Amino acid sequence: MRTLLLFVDGIGIGPRDPERNPFARYASRFLSIFADEPLPALPYNGVVIPTLTDMGMPGLPQSATGQTALLTGRNASREVGHHVSGMPTPTLRRLLNEASIFKQVQALGKRGVFANALSEEYFKHRGEWISATTRALLAGGFPWLTMQDLRAGRAVSHDLTNEFLNQMGFAAPQRAPMESARIVADLARAADFTLFEFILTDAVGHSQDMTQAQEIIARLDTLLETVLTSLDLKETTVVLSSDHGNFEDLRVKTHTTNKVPTCVWGPGKDIFNVKELRIEAIADSLIKIIAM
Ligand SMILES: [Zn+2]
Repeated sequence: MRTLLLFVDGIGIGPRDPERNPFARYASRFLSIFADEPLPALPYNGVVIPTLTDMGMPGLPQSATGQTALLTGRNASREVGHHVSGMPTPTLRRLLNEASIFKQVQALGKRGVFANALSEEYFKHRGEWISATTRALLAGGFPWLTMQDLRAGRAVSHDLTNEFLNQMGFAAPQRAPMESARIVADLARAADFTLFEFILTDAVGHSQDMTQAQEIIARLDTLLETVLTSLDLKETTVVLSSDHGNFEDLRVKTHTTNKVPTCVWGPGKDIFNVKELRIEAIADSLIKIIAM
């Protein structure tokens, strides 16, 4: 079954405290989910499952290990011995190369797509230090979408507006978040497994910028509203998840130990029929849904 994974970096489930939690200060139609309240029913019959990201290891959960766990189903922090921030290190690269969800999709004879466009410059400058999402894609042997695809309306950038690319000197058409979200939906309709990565939430969490947080929440709501109304939820499962908390507590510039929301829409809800998840359990459920 077609599956779309929206990976939103650094959003956790915190208390409803408008002083620190942007999801409390600026109501989100989809993501106002709070640790001190019952779990809400989500629009379009979605469910939310609180998800532990600590992998049984001490310290603050970090991106490289969290994303590797989400994208492989392996306990990345335990394999390394601690949480790892930033880009995947050699051990994490090995896990991604061995067990990436895209590799598992490929083994099922299905097609995977990463909706985020990647530039030649990205590979040139990064060398081995590419993101977990990019390495996960390459491990499956699927082609990445290029800047040409982005310009032609067949790929998106992580911010859904192409503002970041323009700041970096790429000539990229400005897009409204809704236009980019429609492209994500178009890609999801044509593939078995589609991944989209949104990272501004983690950036705003680190910069503790409550004003920018309002715009980010509006963008996430537009993304969800658009994909959930563009896709046939009888035939498509949409999952949103994260790698660790951060954005939901702007009092601190670090990540948090809060659980993260795993939100599920569509038939795959039955596979995710649990009260609580661990981040390293998500990939196996996704593969079950994709194989259905
Ligand atoms: Zn971070």
